[in-house]
Amino acid sequence: MSSLQPVRGTHDILSDESRRHRWVSKTARAIAASYGYGEIATPIFEFTEVFARTLGETSDIVTKEMYTFDDRGGDSITLRPEFTAGIARAFMSNGLAQQVPVKVFCQGPIFRYERPQKGRLRQFHQLDVEVLGVPGPLPDIEVIALAAHILDALGLRDKVVLELNTLGDSESRKAYRAKLVAYLNDFRDRLSEDSRVRLERNPLRIFDSKDKGDQAVMAEAPLLVDTLNDASKVFFDELLAGLDAAGVAYRLNPRLVRGLDYYCHTAFEFTTETLGSQGAVLAGGRYDGLVEMMGGRPTPGIGWAAGVERLAMMIDEPPAEARPVVMVPIGDETRSLALELTQRLRHAGLTVDLGYSGNLGKRMKRANKVNACAAVLLGEDEMARQAATVRDMDSGEQSEVPLASLENHLARYR
Ligand code: ATP
Ligand code: MG
Repeated sequence: MSSLQPVRGTHDILSDESRRHRWVSKTARAIAASYGYGEIATPIFEFTEVFARTLGETSDIVTKEMYTFDDRGGDSITLRPEFTAGIARAFMSNGLAQQVPVKVFCQGPIFRYERPQKGRLRQFHQLDVEVLGVPGPLPDIEVIALAAHILDALGLRDKVVLELNTLGDSESRKAYRAKLVAYLNDFRDRLSEDSRVRLERNPLRIFDSKDKGDQAVMAEAPLLVDTLNDASKVFFDELLAGLDAAGVAYRLNPRLVRGLDYYCHTAFEFTTETLGSQGAVLAGGRYDGLVEMMGGRPTPGIGWAAGVERLAMMIDEPPAEARPVVMVPIGDETRSLALELTQRLRHAGLTVDLGYSGNLGKRMKRANKVNACAAVLLGEDEMARQAATVRDMDSGEQSEVPLASLENHLARYR
């Protein structure tokens, strides 16, 4: 261990990357708000059982990826490995069943003990959208349209594909499970060790396996879409018709499943080929059984989560944020005036950078470095005339401006 290094799988988000993150989250938040989703924040940690019970005892997250510890009071605590279970817990804790439909947007850090690689971290960030209390497929259409809208606004339309599938209702899944197990039993010895365990507990998950041998077996497996009952077929047909009406393009992928136990009907994933093996950008589905599984009344739900780091890697340079005006005091005598003017201009709504030290040359270098739009040069002569020299950093033009009208003059840069 080196205490000067960040913990493996975590990293510091310095200002350039932070700007990209901010653009992703700002864009998502504004579009979610325009669809009527209110932002909420749940705690970063929960009692372990919030996740352990709901995510399924055999899911990768629960068996391998959770950061779980006993706190000083002896309670088992887990850093959130996803948003949905915590939001469902909040739905119950706050009696939100009285207020359905509940439409929420969330964002923040997520923790998973994974093997770190590009686009795969142990602390990463997600955007998350959930609708609780509405049976589908209307909210399913809406959350998918919202996801597509956000990805479009981030300029990613041509870089992602929406893959879509249905997991059907529990009756359909039960019938299918029997078929799938019968098929897989013949190929038991070709499955990975993990998948042999999955075969006992949740065989559908084998579709999600990254093991090549498993994937070869699954390529020939019977498909759930061929075992759907009528109600599940109607649901899926309505979903597809709704997406067509909303102008959202998709590609059917009958092998797409979700890794967690509580999903049914709609399952979707926006994937990309631009991030190497980390192809999943945004993923979600319907989880009608979740709230009941946690001890609440049956409550339908649908939602998705997207990885902020992966989105931030894919976007072009975000639009420039406010360029600063730099204040350049020349000589010691002008220092306190510089401070006074800097505060005056900041209160007037301008972005102002006041270097802490340096001569004229050094300060002008910094003005270029911070991409300043203008520099306010304060020499002793100008000060005596109650004026300053303002230089436009793009054109290089300079003019003397009375201090009293500095705000007016600089308003063009706001
Ligand atoms: P993967 O198949 O890549 O492991 P997942 O199915 O575990 O993804 P979800 O649980 O659906 O992912 O999480 C939603 C999104 O969060 C993913 O689509 C991805 O963009 C992002 N994500 C998941 N795990 C990580 C991670 N360890 N580091 C960075 N982003 C991640
Ligand atoms: Mg994963």
